Amino acid sequence: MKSWTSRPVPQLPGAMPAVRLFDTARDGPVTLDAAGEQSMYVCGITPYDATHMGHAASYVAFDLLNRAWRDGGQRVAYVQNVTDVDDPLLERATATGVDWRDLAASQIELFQTDMEALNVLAPDDYIGAVEAIPLIVPAIETLLERGLAYRVAGTDGEPDGDVYYDVEAAGKHSAEDTDAWTLGCVSHLSDAEMLELFAERGGDPGRAGKRQALDPLLWRVARDGEPRWAGGELGEGRPGWHIECTVIAQKYLPAPFTVQGGGSDLVFPHHEMGAGHAYSLTGTPLAKHFAHAGMVGLDGEKMSKSKGNLVLVSKLRAAGEEPAAIRLAILAHHYRSDWSWTDEGIHEAKRRLGSWRKALQSAPSGSAKALIEQMRAALSDDLKAPEALAAVDAWAGAALAAGDTPASATDAALVSDAVNALLGIEL
Ligand code: ZN
Repeated sequence: MKSWTSRPVPQLPGAMPAVRLFDTARDGPVTLDAAGEQSMYVCGITPYDATHMGHAASYVAFDLLNRAWRDGGQRVAYVQNVTDVDDPLLERATATGVDWRDLAASQIELFQTDMEALNVLAPDDYIGAVEAIPLIVPAIETLLERGLAYRVAGTDGEPDGDVYYDVEAAGKHSAEDTDAWTLGCVSHLSDAEMLELFAERGGDPGRAGKRQALDPLLWRVARDGEPRWAGGELGEGRPGWHIECTVIAQKYLPAPFTVQGGGSDLVFPHHEMGAGHAYSLTGTPLAKHFAHAGMVGLDGEKMSKSKGNLVLVSKLRAAGEEPAAIRLAILAHHYRSDWSWTDEGIHEAKRRLGSWRKALQSAPSGSAKALIEQMRAALSDDLKAPEALAAVDAWAGAALAAGDTPASATDAALVSDAVNALLGIEL
């Protein structure tokens, strides 16, 4: 699938040090090996409510990592999927009387327009679930052959043949195999917590015929009125969500790739199960590290479609908010924190953007180098954007205070380039 278009990233003198990042699976910070090649998979949207502020904050967070790596001279391979067929999309299409393909196409286009507006660098490969089905089917067949997946008999009017991943069988391995996946190695949740989240986030713990309540769906055989694709030995149907990301990541990135990213609501079951699928298929971990962005609420409340309080980037843009200000409002919060979108937040971002732009007119000579070092120190330490913003604020304050001295065009250009290259904000 065609991706969106990245804007150019200015090159800065010097380089970002190796990035420290909080790894969910290790439950602590790690320093990412700066060996020259980095690879990242960030889970994409299911295209039915794009692009709410939670999506935007998550993609901006991993855009910071992408930019930090590039500034550190690393080559980055970046892949993102789009779950262009899945239950929530089909349910929304039915509820609104729209063809699911039209709904997906319109939401993907809106998402890409929002990402371009927010200056999020595009993935190198942007892959739809539908176009990946020919890769997914053989992977599920392999899991069946290895006894790590099984077919469920139909009951209560359901057809025979849905395929599930056997988490217990997949988690069995020899004690020497320290890389092997076991349930909980990414999320570290208790059984009770897993069960609760599994049910909340699209799992079907009560499905009759499953071996374990937490076994996730790999292949849903065709039902009347639902879209279907050829599934080889599996029969016609469509894939589950976790195997989709696993197979796409394994196809387009090295194994293991550097970082799998997403919102914290993807830790379990999505990233947990994807890690399991990958290990079951290749004997190699999917990713070296797992990183997660916090959740965004509205005025202190959880943001959700059912509450009708989704803040959409497209609506803010239509209301005249500058995308750079929206991005700056996001960057005022550390990516791992849960935070709320507020009027004050966007107001403060606009004030800050205005102050930075004004300060460029009076950039003190020789001031840019120290600022760039401070920004790099903040961002290389677990992407601490709020500290980078504070450094630019301090620089801007000093520049404005010294407003009557001759300004340095060189320093103004360097600061403008640094804010663009590292934060993705065009001044
Ligand atoms: Zn995913």
